Amino acid sequence: SRPLRVSCAIAAPPAEDVQIRVKRNENFGKLQAGYLFPEIGRRRRAHQEKHPDAKIISLGIGDTTEPIPKSIAEAMQQAAAGMATLEGYSGYGAEQGKPQLREALCSRFYTHVGRKPNEIFVSDGSKCDIGRLQMMFGSDTTVAVQDPSYPVYVDSSVIMGMTGEYDESSKGFGNLTYMVCRPENNFFPDLSKVKATDLIFFCNPNNPTGAAATRQQLEELVAFARKNGSILIYDAAYAIYIAESDLPKTIFEIPGAEECCMETCSFSKYAGFTGVRLGWTVVPEQLKFADGSPVINDFNRIMTTIFNGASVIAQAGGLAALEDEGFREMNDLVAFYRENAAILRKTFVDLGFSVYGGENAPYIWVGFPGKPSWDVFAEILEKCNIVTTPGSGFGPAGEGFVRASAFGHREDILEAVERFKKEFGGR
Ligand code: PLP
Repeated sequence: SRPLRVSCAIAAPPAEDVQIRVKRNENFGKLQAGYLFPEIGRRRRAHQEKHPDAKIISLGIGDTTEPIPKSIAEAMQQAAAGMATLEGYSGYGAEQGKPQLREALCSRFYTHVGRKPNEIFVSDGSKCDIGRLQMMFGSDTTVAVQDPSYPVYVDSSVIMGMTGEYDESSKGFGNLTYMVCRPENNFFPDLSKVKATDLIFFCNPNNPTGAAATRQQLEELVAFARKNGSILIYDAAYAIYIAESDLPKTIFEIPGAEECCMETCSFSKYAGFTGVRLGWTVVPEQLKFADGSPVINDFNRIMTTIFNGASVIAQAGGLAALEDEGFREMNDLVAFYRENAAILRKTFVDLGFSVYGGENAPYIWVGFPGKPSWDVFAEILEKCNIVTTPGSGFGPAGEGFVRASAFGHREDILEAVERFKKEFGGR
């Protein structure tokens, strides 16, 4: 057969003449030194190349390490096997999540605080939800964050164009409100000095400081948001780590929160789902924009427009995690990491450091006053072959601290403890 000759009216220019006309989103130019954790990974690899025999232990990124509990993993195996059968196969599901899962999430965590299953949107994780809700709010919005804070709130605000340029002297972005959280104020901002903004990101228990807010503090925060007409985006990714029974586990325990708050949460640190990907966001029907329209309608629109529902396999796992057996297993897993946190916390306390967190959160926040945290990070990596996270990577007020994560195999945590004692014991 003869090749078909197609005549083309457009002559493609050679590579050297191609000039793309699409302008780069200038906000990307404002971002600093890449995202924190890839930078840590780069330094870790460089250290490993320099010391090929070093057995590096990571207390850094905060990724989970232990296997998914059995009944939860089995539910996902069954769901996956079912996909190979006519009866078990399912295609697209509801973008908001399976009704049974929304109901189970509600009855485990929210019914007692007045929330309803239709207010819970199941997703592929909390980080993704933060990106989507930023898209929902648009770029004409002002933002406040805790300082230090989970970097995603800041970087997504920068990408959206909600901030000004990075200022080298203050180590912060223009037009972004930093709510300083340090030992001096018990890691809770002095709200009398905080500017009113449209959005307030608040992570509790906090990543990275490990601080957990009291009921009174959260009441103050909700009153502050209500007074200013702000929307509080409450990140409860570590709520299950709260050990003290009188500390609130959801912002909706605070009366009036339903009119000014949304809450995002995740199975990542609850059930070892960092790789499985399953989370949720709660948007109360009572939460309204300035024009009186319900936020839930627009969030629903975002989820149905740019998200197509969480994996049916992951959702089967989530559902199993909320059944009695799975719930017990999930809490055992959390208790295991909590013990790791207690071991690390005690080690740093015994070594004489100023230590925060680790009691109601899987993170320990260790002070090295007067020392730049990237230097401390480098020193710990060099001396102990241990990766931590430099506090300054979480914001200017994180300077002088490093974060140690309690996510790790027990033998690695114990080995890390020995190395810390050996290298820092004589301080
Ligand atoms: N929020 C906080 C405070 C986190 O620390 C993390 C993960 O480290 C997330 C959200 C992201 O969770 P997910 O894995 O569900 O995207």
